[in-house]
Amino acid sequence: MVYGAGLEVFTALDLVAQAATDKLVPERTKYFQRVLGKRGEGDLQSVAVVMKPQTGNVVALWGGEQSTHTDFNRATQAKRQSGSSFKPLVYALGVQLPGVTAATTVSNAPHKFEHAPTWTPRNVGGEYSPSVCLAYGLSWSQNIATASLLDMAGGPEPLIQLATRLGFDTSAFPKEMGLALGQAEVTPLEMGKAISAIVNGGFAVVGSPILVAIDASGATRLDDRAPLERVFTEDVAAVTRDLMRLVIEFGTGGASRGTGGIAGYAGPAVGKTGTTDDEKDLWFVGGTPDYVGVVWLGYDTPVRIGASASDLASPLWGWWMNAATKGLPQREFEGTPLDRRWICTQTGLLSNGTCRGISAPFLPGTAPKGGCPHQHPPPPPEVECPEGEVCEGDQPHKRESLWKRMAREKAEAEAAALGLPPDGQAPPPAPPLAPAPPAP
Ligand SMILES: [Zn+2]
Repeated sequence: MVYGAGLEVFTALDLVAQAATDKLVPERTKYFQRVLGKRGEGDLQSVAVVMKPQTGNVVALWGGEQSTHTDFNRATQAKRQSGSSFKPLVYALGVQLPGVTAATTVSNAPHKFEHAPTWTPRNVGGEYSPSVCLAYGLSWSQNIATASLLDMAGGPEPLIQLATRLGFDTSAFPKEMGLALGQAEVTPLEMGKAISAIVNGGFAVVGSPILVAIDASGATRLDDRAPLERVFTEDVAAVTRDLMRLVIEFGTGGASRGTGGIAGYAGPAVGKTGTTDDEKDLWFVGGTPDYVGVVWLGYDTPVRIGASASDLASPLWGWWMNAATKGLPQREFEGTPLDRRWICTQTGLLSNGTCRGISAPFLPGTAPKGGCPHQHPPPPPEVECPEGEVCEGDQPHKRESLWKRMAREKAEAEAAALGLPPDGQAPPPAPPLAPAPPAP
């Protein structure tokens, strides 16, 4: 019918967002490849999906280079592991349990799991503690805490059910606890649908670019404006969304506010990073009150990219969202009003000043009442190194961000060119001048 009789098709295309996406996303992806060096066959690819969370319509899309003339669109067809970008679904499931709040604590130390007795995941960065609150678990993407929460929520089965209702094709999802950490393969469009439900207050969306299609006789042949189905409550959506705000305000998504001297997105926003094993897939999924955006970076044949999602996907998302929404008024998210409290990341109780704290969201009347009883020692000095946890030393090492490393290497190269020693040490004293030759 499309090629023969023809249809009049009305789409939700947002020309400003599409133009910004077409220009910025491939440009920055090429820049990343120049910085990191080409790692695999073909070029580093990127995908971007923009959706209106209230309707679930796709309003702009970038499927990577050559995605149209090969008939393969990575945004809608490429199935890749989601990594930690899938974790918000675990938290959306967890906060549905009676009595569970952002202050609920779960184990964040290596242990065997009830639903996976032989599985002992590790935390990236090698940081462990007996317990952490959920607000910290998501914002700093703690693997064990997230797996502990899924264990508490009943294991992989309820998570698969939730994912199915949100629009994922779960037929190939492994029924394993590793789902909590994003082991399943998903498309960027599926991730956009899930984040839309969190942003729009709990409604599953279709994720179609089409509003309506009408044939020559004026009859409607397709209508994707069907009413949306509620998957979780507005309260659950509000808490999950605000936990995702912490990812940007306190956690792994900070570079979406800008990095490398280029401004990112400054308005109210939520998000989650995702870096899969060996850095083969980098994700940032997130949203503003008006747009949901998903970015993915990787090679078609997966190889190590040489950077994390915090290094590349977070700033790309921020730069891109800034460009796509240029000139639009910023507003706050709608939905259940939340109380924010400064709580201890370890005990979930009100912070006492010695605690490592975080500003966590609570439904009215659910905030913790008591203060943390511990006098925490001051944190050890942070150690950063290019390789993160694998470098020498007995204390956890934080991975040095790509942009910090580049700035450091540039400063070192400039210092070397001037004959200065590294590490900002004072230059050695100049050799004494040779005595002036005696006048003839
Ligand atoms: Zn404390």
